[in-house]
Amino acid sequence: MIQITMPLNFLGTVYREIRQALVDMGEMFDLLEQPRDVTDRPGAPDLTVSGGVVAFEDISFGYDAARPILKGVTIRVGAGESVALVGPSGSGKSTIGRLLFRFYDVGGGRITIDGQDIRDVTQESVHAAIGVVPQDTVLFNDTIRYNIAYGRDGATEDEIVAAARAAQIHDFIASLPEGYDTQVGERGLKLSGGEKQRVGIARTLLKDPPILLLDEATSALDTETEASIQDALKRAGEGRTVITIAHRLSTIADADRIVVLQDGQVVEEGRHDDLLARAGRYAALWARQQAEREEAA
Ligand code: ADP
Ligand code: MG
Repeated sequence: MIQITMPLNFLGTVYREIRQALVDMGEMFDLLEQPRDVTDRPGAPDLTVSGGVVAFEDISFGYDAARPILKGVTIRVGAGESVALVGPSGSGKSTIGRLLFRFYDVGGGRITIDGQDIRDVTQESVHAAIGVVPQDTVLFNDTIRYNIAYGRDGATEDEIVAAARAAQIHDFIASLPEGYDTQVGERGLKLSGGEKQRVGIARTLLKDPPILLLDEATSALDTETEASIQDALKRAGEGRTVITIAHRLSTIADADRIVVLQDGQVVEEGRHDDLLARAGRYAALWARQQAEREEAA
């Protein structure tokens, strides 16, 4: 009996580890809502990124045929440009991000990166070119080091620390008794929303992608944390093509270009000041959020 209990306990532990790993992956897929039906064409080459120009060319899409979500959206994001997508909840902003990551294929039109239709290249190479900072960063039940290093295989300690510094999380990590060896996640140290997000930013910085996709990256944070995250994100965006999906207009007022979506269509496009001067949809959204801010203050 004793002889048999030992291995069973051991197996139980292994089983729990595996199950936990599966749960982590499951959460990841939920988060990015990855369907499993988009596949590579036989012999598809890898994407070749030169400048990181992203073009949505008259794209249409619906999660099911009966209900169109995007109705002919055209957006061109130049190399190194930062473009913000704004609009009411449900207008299709996150859907555009999911299509760029090719979790779904467009129903009409096409999406290109540096002129290559993303359906003609491997999904893996598209994913490698795009760094995503999601609303909620999922942490693995492992050390902080592992959670950052996950951004790139074979990263050195110096590179990990540099990424953590740029994401403004290094000082916090260094203050922990076990530093980068601290266990986090379900069975380790619970990090706050802002700390998790900064680990996520460090992970993305280490990956060093030419294109950054930020989906309402700061929506769940208090104002002070948000300001420091914004700072980290701004630095992260330097020299990259950045697409920011934003709810709070205050965080994207300095974007090179702002695209306003409504009901799956682009209704306005321009710089913050120009859009305010136009006194249209953006100006109305802005006025409403300013009023809400003043009410909250
Ligand atoms: P936004 O990010 O602008 O708030 P989304 O792109 O998330 O908007 O959603 C656009 C529309 O698509 C919404 O009406 C939403 O209900 C719908 N939608 C989003 N995800 C799914 C999904 N996985 N399946 C079906 N409908 C979805
Ligand atoms: Mg969204």
